Amino acid sequence: MRKPRLFTPGPTPVPEHVLLRMAEPIIHHRHAEFIALMERVNRHLQTLFCTTQPVLTLTASGTGAAEAAMTTLFKEGEKGININNGKFAERWGKMMKTFGMTAIDVEIPWGNAIETEQLRDVLKQHPDASSVWLVHSETSTGTYTNICEMARTVRETLPNALVCIDGITSIGAHECRMDEWDIDVVMTGSQKGLMIPPGLAFVALSERAWQKAASFKSRNFYFDLKKAREAWQEHSTPWTPAVSLVCGLAPALEMMMEEGIENIWHRHATLSRGLRSGFEALNLKLYGTSPSHAVSVAYLPEKGGKDFVKLLKKDLGITVIGGQDQLKDVIFRTSHLGYYDEADMLGALGAMEHALHRIGHEFEAGKGVYAAQRVFLEAARR
Ligand SMILES: *Cc1c(COP(=O)(O)O)cnc(C)c1O
Repeated sequence: MRKPRLFTPGPTPVPEHVLLRMAEPIIHHRHAEFIALMERVNRHLQTLFCTTQPVLTLTASGTGAAEAAMTTLFKEGEKGININNGKFAERWGKMMKTFGMTAIDVEIPWGNAIETEQLRDVLKQHPDASSVWLVHSETSTGTYTNICEMARTVRETLPNALVCIDGITSIGAHECRMDEWDIDVVMTGSQKGLMIPPGLAFVALSERAWQKAASFKSRNFYFDLKKAREAWQEHSTPWTPAVSLVCGLAPALEMMMEEGIENIWHRHATLSRGLRSGFEALNLKLYGTSPSHAVSVAYLPEKGGKDFVKLLKKDLGITVIGGQDQLKDVIFRTSHLGYYDEADMLGALGAMEHALHRIGHEFEAGKGVYAAQRVFLEAARR
């Protein structure tokens, strides 16, 4: 017998009581019971996004939130600057082109984040850009970008450009203060930090962004955020929402509210630090220069590395995920986004030691667990 354990940065594990809630008999989305549920959910989402703006719930995966924001806010021919430092960032540039926008793709080597000076230079070269797209936590490479700094840089250099943030694996992992940092668009998805299955996307727009949206005729229908905002005022959605997922979302958000968002950010930082020091102690080289608190990335061992991920899954029940494109068979990614605690990290490291031993990797058994435990004990003392 092996207990299946999911360590992927989306979908992420779902707490048992949340799963049970989603198995309850379906309720009708225009009924008072659902409206009351939505009212609570909407309030908690605002706390999570650190905003007083509506956080709109869409029935889609995370990409749907980006498409909704893009088509609600920008017309054909508008220029968008896309800071492209990974597989997800790349997607937003492609999406701009699909919708007839001019995409300025700023390529940053994978595993790295853009720096302030570099961003300022790009902005100066494109004073006519009406948006700047940044990925807070680039899940393909485990890279964190300092959005507080970057948002400030955009505001200073191109005051009218909208700052659009892919917060899909940063919301619920990294500090992200939409209003205080003056961000115009923040989006996330349900299967990441929110601890429920895939199927819901969330997006919030600033006052500046809403004004822009109001300045032209909608060119979308299902994903028209103006319609979603109108329905939001009534704690409703314009179309049938994924009712069962919303029923799960409520207790998941209540768990988060009980822990407190600052404590959640702190927990993710600690888990990430612990896991990374475990990897280093096992002679696994860390990938990238700016680690995300949602997912930790290390190079696969040279010897037998290709079998490592498969062996972990098949013989030890642990699902981690490999790399994409040029990182295929080069790295592996381990999530600590959402429903994870210290014991999960110690368990994962223990299983990894087992798998590493099987593929003949050179390391001292127990050292990975020991290194992570030291980080956790030190964090618990504070
Ligand atoms: C998962 C993810 C997405 C895409 O979300 P889907 O839910 O697959 O549409 C976009 N950006 C980042 C950073 C992600 O981790």
